[in-house]
Amino acid sequence: MICCSIGSTKIIKYHLALSQIYHSITCYFCFETFEVDLEVDDHFNGHNDEIYDCVVCCNPNRIEYDVYDGEVRGIVVGDGNE
Ligand SMILES: [Zn+2]
Repeated sequence: MICCSIGSTKIIKYHLALSQIYHSITCYFCFETFEVDLEVDDHFNGHNDEIYDCVVCCNPNRIEYDVYDGEVRGIVVGDGNE
């Protein structure tokens, strides 16, 4: 009997390819440190910016960052009121 493994490969598809990355940032307004969770698609490369309200003073912080290979780099925190 010939044993053949061809055709038995399983392909597992992941429908959700989002990585949640927790990052500590310093508030633009009150200089307190708080955590934001950045949702990054594993296949996304490029520039992103989002507004997060500070958990301490509630002012909007604009968070700009670059994503390469699922890694967040170069986070810049600025004024989200513009
Ligand atoms: Zn603040």
